[in-house]
Amino acid sequence: MFTVLYKLRWFFYEHWKRYAVALGLLLLLNFVEVIPPDLIGRVIDQLNDGSITASSLLHTLLLYGGVIIVGYVAGYLWMVRLFGGSNLLQLTLRSRLMRHFLRMTPTFYETNRTGDLMARATNDLNAVSQTAGFGILTLIDSTTFSATILITMGVLISWKLTLLSLAPLPLIALAMTKYGRVVHERFTLAQDAFGDMNDRVLETIAGVRVVRAYVQESAQERQFAAVTQDVYQKNADVARIDAQFEPTIKILVGVSYLIGLGYGAYMVFQSQLTLGQLTSFNVYLGMLIWPMLAIGQLINIMQRGNASLDRVTETLSREPDVADPPQVERLVSPVTITFHDYSFRYPLSAVDNLQDVSITIHKGQTLGIVGRTGAGKSTLLRQLLREYPVGHGGSLSIDGVPIERLAVEQVTSWLGYVPQDPQLFSRSIADNIRFGVPEASDEKVAATLIITSLHEDTQQFPEGLATMVGEKGVSLSGGQKQRVALARALLCDPEILMLDDALSAVDARTEAYIVGEIRQLRQARTTLIATHRVATIAHADWILVLEEGRIVEQGTHVDLLAQQGWYYEQYVRQRLEDNTDGAGVTTSREKRVWA
Ligand code: ADP
Repeated sequence: MFTVLYKLRWFFYEHWKRYAVALGLLLLLNFVEVIPPDLIGRVIDQLNDGSITASSLLHTLLLYGGVIIVGYVAGYLWMVRLFGGSNLLQLTLRSRLMRHFLRMTPTFYETNRTGDLMARATNDLNAVSQTAGFGILTLIDSTTFSATILITMGVLISWKLTLLSLAPLPLIALAMTKYGRVVHERFTLAQDAFGDMNDRVLETIAGVRVVRAYVQESAQERQFAAVTQDVYQKNADVARIDAQFEPTIKILVGVSYLIGLGYGAYMVFQSQLTLGQLTSFNVYLGMLIWPMLAIGQLINIMQRGNASLDRVTETLSREPDVADPPQVERLVSPVTITFHDYSFRYPLSAVDNLQDVSITIHKGQTLGIVGRTGAGKSTLLRQLLREYPVGHGGSLSIDGVPIERLAVEQVTSWLGYVPQDPQLFSRSIADNIRFGVPEASDEKVAATLIITSLHEDTQQFPEGLATMVGEKGVSLSGGQKQRVALARALLCDPEILMLDDALSAVDARTEAYIVGEIRQLRQARTTLIATHRVATIAHADWILVLEEGRIVEQGTHVDLLAQQGWYYEQYVRQRLEDNTDGAGVTTSREKRVWA
């Protein structure tokens, strides 16, 4: 049952002073709190035999007053220390979890649901932190406090009476063990269900427009009702077992009272006990109710904490599947990128997503990658991002060093990656553009806006560059979003710029303008462009045509046209389309989407 505290021992070692003070004060209070019943018993006895005097009464009252003051001060101090510790544990674990989330690669997020991860970061952490606060309190109260009361009863009043009235105690222990086990099982189920529900909420909110577009509101409602019903049911199961607990303990304590009062009265009658002692005895028995209940609470908290800690640790113990090698090699800046017979498969894919790819890209070159949707264009670019373990065949190296021997952070620091569906943050447009280089000058930002053809767009926004993006501000069109993301990458002036169909929602003419600007700007740097629009990469130094993860055609634009293959067909077809659209002047195809 206390495994959770053992598992958290690193925390208690780290904050041993805080816990030493809290425990010391709690123990002090244990002793102080058994004084008043004894005082009451003595006063009753003095009244009974007429030996009470004004000064003895005053003495007793002063002592009682002292107990109250000590109780107040010590009570305040231990609470602050103990519950502060509990919050501190939550803070520590939550930061650790967040750091972990940031370190993890896509494989982790592909195999874990976001809602469940959120449940672990909230509900589960609450349950764990309870063990280090309320859990410790119940631990002390159910052990040392109850022992102090018992010993006081035995020593000051009668061992015989004490032991007899505590005969139901073993039954209490039995009940605790049984309940503890069931609580653990049911609580784990309830937390899992909560994770599922979280996931549903997230998915429904994220996809609310799709749900509306397909008129699936009531179907979603029904499905969600089933999910919440499940959470309700499982929590109700926990509540039911919780609810049985207190009455059971109260019955058993009630039996103790019956024995205590019955046999105690007999002992008074036999003159083995004074009236005052019997009174104190009953007060002590009453004081025992909480420590007995505390045992139940203790089991509950520890079992829940343990179940939750296991869930949190399980998440924390997942190692990212891409990590730095023990000894990293360092490069000043990348000059050549070489794929040699490179094959790669996503961890969750059944087929190879890249097969025998060989290509060398030199600094300053532009590589174009075209091919059907799903051909592997993004997959090829993303190899450099180190999101997944390196491929199972061939090699990918930078300046002759296999990429897995370089530090992930060094490689990613060279890259500027602009995906087709970029993620902007709910901040101002300027902040979004400055994301990678917060200190960039206004002039640089302005130059980037011109390259990405964003300056006119931003002028139309209510507050220009300071306009907020997303939930709290304007919703950008797909093309605007893509161009803000491109500006963000360009501002970093990366060694290797990767555009992954990054201008798919921008009209053909604007795209041609932007690509031309990028070409000018990046003459000395490497640029990789994956696109479905062949004309975009006509200027590239080398072009790959991918199909099912293989290179099926390659060469310069002129070479590829001469080959009269897929590239040629696409080029002719797309030219025709553009011409029918108005001699290459496409009207805006941008669709309004939420930022
Ligand atoms: P493209 O960029 O050419 O449209 P992708 O590189 O995105 O194509 O995808 C190539 C193939 O890899 C597709 O068949 C796709 O389904 C698969 N794929 C992409 N991402 C993953 C992933 N995370 N896990 C498994 N398979 C994936």
